[in-house]
Amino acid sequence: MRLEHHTDVELYPEAVTEYEYDVPADETTATTCPYCGRPFRTERYATFHLGVSHSDELTADERTAFEDERDDEKHDLFTFHLKAAVTVFLTYFMFTFLYALVWAG
Ligand SMILES: [Zn+2]
Repeated sequence: MRLEHHTDVELYPEAVTEYEYDVPADETTATTCPYCGRPFRTERYATFHLGVSHSDELTADERTAFEDERDDEKHDLFTFHLKAAVTVFLTYFMFTFLYALVWAG
């Protein structure tokens, strides 16, 4: 059975800004928060939740895990932007080349 949204909000007051962390009722829960018992779909979401919602209570290990995940996220984003920039550049270059080829021919 799927919970109504207002029920989620009552159970988890922070849900308003964290939809992506919510686990639908028909999906398995990979882990739960050791501080507030909230379910998460992946370990990664739980790590982020710990870092954001329980930053004052974290153990050194949990804090390190959160900081690692955050750095990975930044790295992923950087890689994505780099790939996007290269793709745009190559596309531009290709069109310029084709354009020159057409006019030269
Ligand atoms: Zn929690």
